[in-house]
This record gives sequence, C-alpha cells and structure tokens, in this order.
Amino acid sequence: MDFELAEDHRMLRDLVTRFVDDELMPLESAVLKREAQGGALGLSRAEHERLDQVSRALGLWGLDAPEDVGGADLPNVAMVAVNEALGRTITPYTLPPDSPNLRMLQATVTDRQKEAYLAPYVRGETISAIGISEPGAGADPSGMITRAVRDGDDWVINGRKIWISRAAEADFTILMAVTDREKGARGGISAFLVDRDSPGFHVVRLIPMVGGAVTYEVVLEDCRVPGWKLLGTEGQGFAPMQLRLGTRRLEMAAWSVGMAQRALDMMCGHAPQRVTFGQPLSERQAIQWWVADAATQIHAARLMTYDCAWKLDQGRDVRVEISMIKAFATEMAWTVIDHAMQAFGAMGMTKELPLQLMAAKIRAMRIYDGPTEVHKWVVARNLLGTRR
Ligand SMILES: Cc1cc2nc3c(=O)[nH]c(=O)nc-3n(C[C@H](O)[C@H](O)[C@H](O)COP(=O)(O)OP(=O)(O)OC[C@H]3O[C@@H](n4cnc5c(N)ncnc54)[C@H](O)[C@@H]3O)c2cc1C
Repeated sequence: MDFELAEDHRMLRDLVTRFVDDELMPLESAVLKREAQGGALGLSRAEHERLDQVSRALGLWGLDAPEDVGGADLPNVAMVAVNEALGRTITPYTLPPDSPNLRMLQATVTDRQKEAYLAPYVRGETISAIGISEPGAGADPSGMITRAVRDGDDWVINGRKIWISRAAEADFTILMAVTDREKGARGGISAFLVDRDSPGFHVVRLIPMVGGAVTYEVVLEDCRVPGWKLLGTEGQGFAPMQLRLGTRRLEMAAWSVGMAQRALDMMCGHAPQRVTFGQPLSERQAIQWWVADAATQIHAARLMTYDCAWKLDQGRDVRVEISMIKAFATEMAWTVIDHAMQAFGAMGMTKELPLQLMAAKIRAMRIYDGPTEVHKWVVARNLLGTRR
C-alpha cells in the first residue's frame, strides 16, 4: 500500500500551492474588505482576468477534462491534491472548467453537444449552472415537479428552480425536469441544456446567502428547448446528475481539508504568541487538545478523501464513501474553524481575518450537495440494509 502521490501529481500540487500563495492569497484582504462593506464575495474583472491569464499560462486549465477536447484528463487523486491546495484560500477563484458539470457533460453529450457545449466549456469560454433544487424538493430531488413536455421537435419546460448558483451569469444551465411523472427518479427525470437567452427562462430573484455568496430563483415559463439539447437519454437524467454531485462532494471534502489545515496553521501560529494569565495559550490543555484533535481529524479526512478518489479512479462504486467523506470532512472543518476562531478571541470575530468567511463557506457546504444528515442516512441505510 503506497500512500504517496505520484511524482507528477506532487509537482502539480506544488504548482497549484504556489499559484494559491502567490496569486490568490494576496487578494484576500481586498476580498474581505469588499465583503465586510456589504458587497458580494467576488473578484473584480481585472483581478479575474489576471488570474485567468496566470493560471492558463501555468497550464492549470482543463486539468480533469478529456484530452480530445484539450484537457489533461487527470485522475481524481490528482484533483484531490489540487482542490486541497485551492481550499486554503477564501479568494473565490475556480480553475476552468468547473469539474462537476464537466463530468456530467462528458458522460452524456452527443457529437453536436460536444462541439457546441463541452468543447467551449473546457476552453474556459463559457460558464454553466445546474438547476436541480425546487421550492418543494431539495435534499430529495426525486420530489421535483418541473415538467418537460415534447412539442414537435422541441421540449417545453414549466416550473420553478431555487438556490441556483451562477444562474444569472451562466451561458447555459443543465436543467433537470420530469419527463414521466409515473416513473419519477426511476426513469422519468431528464436533463436539458438551457441557454441563458432561451425564451421562457427567467432569473426572477437574487438570493443573498451567508458569507457573501448568492444564488438565484429561476422560473421556466413555456421555456422552449430544441430536441437536440436533451442531455443523455430521455428519462435517465438521474444517474449522470449523481455523477456530477459525486464529483462536487469529492471536491468539497478536499476543500474542507485545505480549509481546516489553514485554520489549524493559523491557530498554531497564534497560540504561542498570545499570553493570558501569565502563560501562552499553547501551554493550555484546552488549546492543545483543539490542536491535536484538528491534526488527527484533518489527517483522517485527507486519507479518506484520497481513498475515495483512488477507488473512483479504479472504477469502483463509491456511493457510500462519497457520503462518508462529504459529511465527515465538512463537519470536521466546521469544528476546526470554530476552535480557531475561539482561540483568536475577539480577533477571530473580525471581518479582517479569513476565518469568519471560511466558517460561512463551510456552513453552507454542510447543506448543499446533500445535507450532513442525508449523507449519514445514506451510509446507515446501506449498513442496515434498509435501502429502498
Ligand atoms: C450556497 C448554496 C448553493 C446552492 N447551489 C445550488 C445549485 O447550484 N443548484 C441546485 O440545484 N441547488 C443548489 N443548492 C440547493 C441545495 O442543494 C439544497 O439546499 C440542499 O439539497 C438541501 O435542500 P433544501 O434546502 O430544500 O433542504 P430540505 O430538503 O428541506 O432539508 C432540510 C433539512 O432537513 C434535514 N433532512 C432532510 N432529509 C433528511 C433525511 N433523509 N434524514 C435526516 N434529515 C433530513 C437536513 O437537516 C436538511 O438540512 C444550493 C444551496 C446552497 C446553500
């Protein structure tokens, strides 16, 4: 059993770490300042363009995209290393293209869709969103009621989606809709490529979320989608959607490890410096236990995440492992960040340190792409044999 990354993946991790240290970390104070003044968590156009330019020149685009559309086709273990490095910073930058929709497209596109959607997406020319959640169906997406009905060569979609990240900026949204009410999640839910300017696709509300994030509410009113934009097989949208969710959950586990490591590093830097009642905090058992528990749990989460990625690369079924790491790593990071904030005292409550944004980010991550309780339920029902 070899727990070391392959040499080329180690070199990639070091390159991404340098990119984070040299390019993303220096932007943190500006990002924090804007968010503290009530702005959204984001980058200016100039900042974004520079990051695009530098990361592209370093060869950091399309890392896990297929080679035939210009990607490097790296395995999941390499992407864990990349995402752990990226997780250390609160500067919101994604190396193009965002992996989850990439995986879903990769698994489903026709030749025509490959040329029109996948290839430009891999080249970083387009942004995408995913529309699954609805006011009445979140943790349980099988309860969705947005309906797609055939009309000649087209599909006509009616319904409402909510909490959709990037819906207003995305060039296209992968939209999930019911095509057969009887079958539901077992053969009755399909995926569609819906362009931002499609007739009947309305972004009706921007919803501010914790930590300066935003999501959107989208109404589909007789939204007409040409037949060739059905993604994958009619009625079989659920499996590629789960593939997409699995990719994000693996990323989230790796980000959580990176974020928790940063919080631990900050705590270890602060504790020896701060003297209370005649002794540095680092001499107090309460703080020592936070440090020891954090280091242990980060180590466990990191190994679990690599194990899951490796199994995925071997083509193994990792549905249970994905749920384990998504729940374990996000909850672990939440506790570690909370202890770091506590160790910093009032300074930990300021909007000058990144800790509060990390906490807000991880707070949302305990909900999206499946709340912790749902993932624990998935693990338990597999063990207990109660899976329906
Ligand atoms: C920042 C953010 C970004 C998002 N982006 C997107 C996006 O881009 N696209 C998209 O489609 N959706 C998105 N979502 C929606 C997200 O996926 C849902 O919020 C999530 O799946 C939970 O659904 P819900 O909010 O309706 O909660 P509900 O389904 O109402 O669940 C509420 C709570 O009930 C509990 N619960 C539910 N089921 C069980 C169970 N079986 N056992 C035990 N407890 C249970 C959990 O504690 C859960 O948190 C986003 C959400 C957030 C916060």
